[in-house]
Amino acid sequence: MRLATISTWAGPRAAVQAGDAYVDVHATNPRMPPSVRLILEGGEPYLRLAWELAQAPDAIKYEAGKVRFHAPVHDARKIVCIGLNYRDHAAESGAAIPREPILFSKYPTALIGHEEAIVLPAVSQEVDFEAELVIVVGRRGRNIPKEDAMAYVAGYTIGHDVSARDWQLKKDGKQWMVGKTFDTFAPAGPHLVTIDEVPDPQNLAICLRLNGETMQDSNTKQLVFGVADLIAYLSQVFTLEPGDLIYTGTPPGVGFARKPPVYLKSGDVVEIEIEGLGVLRNPVVQG
Ligand code: ZN
Repeated sequence: MRLATISTWAGPRAAVQAGDAYVDVHATNPRMPPSVRLILEGGEPYLRLAWELAQAPDAIKYEAGKVRFHAPVHDARKIVCIGLNYRDHAAESGAAIPREPILFSKYPTALIGHEEAIVLPAVSQEVDFEAELVIVVGRRGRNIPKEDAMAYVAGYTIGHDVSARDWQLKKDGKQWMVGKTFDTFAPAGPHLVTIDEVPDPQNLAICLRLNGETMQDSNTKQLVFGVADLIAYLSQVFTLEPGDLIYTGTPPGVGFARKPPVYLKSGDVVEIEIEGLGVLRNPVVQG
């Protein structure tokens, strides 16, 4: 099943893709919560009902071509990000392969959806791109053993870890978080693809195209820490909650590691494609 959060007259609403339309499940049956995060809180029975409603003859539908997307979980409580998690990206960054996951985070104000604009802040001249697989958490949990971890995953989406390198790497103390949490720096979408449609998240082609030119082209096989490793590791520290997003790191090919470096500019279009998950496309504008 492919869940999305779409813009409606009543605000952002959970929707299920059904052919070339999106079904507003709350409008179709008010027993369904209005948001994807609350549907995930309801667990398996709510997901099953969402699927059934999407097939109903009286379902309330929006034509796919006219839909405006938010991030699939537009009100995620946590956006956790992992750095240097592809072997060859660590190498191109001149960093050692990490022995434990490297964490930073973004605020929910950074989230945008498919086709929404990435806004370049006037205070950065080095805004870079990073294609990432994103885990969407499906169940609340703490101290989750690695062997149980996959039961806590609702599914996956495509993420873009937009990064102001001058803020991330050139300020005193190298504050990764500030460089990566400017508003609009966390595009995600278009869909939350449920786990049943993604049998092996550690074997997905992932690529990023800037104005049609391929800049990153890899496979999630290259991940240093896989999905279950990350769920187990993170849940030692904090409670994972339904709808939390985990950006799992980026493969090689990012702009700052190129000679000469390539940074985003107004008018650019960035597309990230992950096998089985679709394409996340965002235009770039100057703020
Ligand atoms: Zn990243």
